[in-house]
Order: sequence, then C-alpha cells, then structure tokens
Amino acid sequence: MDDLSRFCCQNAACPDSGKRGHGNLSVTMRYGPRKSLRLLRCSTCKTRFSERKGTPLFASRLPTDRVVTILAHVAEGIGTRKTARLSGVHQDTVARYIRQAGDQAQHLHDELVAFSPGDDRSAVR
Ligand SMILES: [Zn+2]
Repeated sequence: MDDLSRFCCQNAACPDSGKRGHGNLSVTMRYGPRKSLRLLRCSTCKTRFSERKGTPLFASRLPTDRVVTILAHVAEGIGTRKTARLSGVHQDTVARYIRQAGDQAQHLHDELVAFSPGDDRSAVR
C-alpha cells in the first residue's frame, strides 16, 4: 500500500485541493524509468496528476539525486555558475531548478504562513 499522506490534490478548483492525508488520492498507474513514478487520482474531482506535480522535480529530465544535489549547493549559498560546474550541468539548468524551487517555496509559504507582510519587490515582477 502506498503512503500518500504527504500528497494532496493539485487541482486548484477541487474542494479537497491542498488537503494532505485526506484519503481522496489513489495510485492509478506507474510510469517513468523503471515505473518509479506514480500517477495519482483524486476521488473528489477525478483529476489525475503526477506525484511530482507542484515540485521542482516535475518534468525533470535529471535523476532525482542530481536535482537534490544542485538544490543543496544553491541552499548552501553557492552561486549558479559554481553549482553548474560542480554538478556537471549547464548554468541555465541550475537557474531553471532555482526558479522552480523558488516558485514552490512561495506556494508553501502562502499555504503555511498565516500573515506575510507585503513586499514591494513583487510589484516589479
Ligand atoms: Zn481533487
């Protein structure tokens, strides 16, 4: 039996969207290299989505451990060029994973933090 307690429906229009461990998800299929990835289905809205949707690993062509290594370098404050050299990838690849991880961190922040002061920099985007 798959432990899906850390997953939630990714359909923003679903009433159970974002509710972890709600019991509405099931595994409908496995795919990817060695069938290592799961396709999940929400019984509330009938949407199917990859278990990686909403993570920096979604549609990633690099193996998980390499992406984790890249993001670990970045989290330690190592710059994009140095991370690219250390990880053996192009710096645009590093920049893409930084962007994806940043977007996800923003979503997580919005989900978990009750109040966040406004940031004038966000108006520039
Ligand atoms: Zn749903």
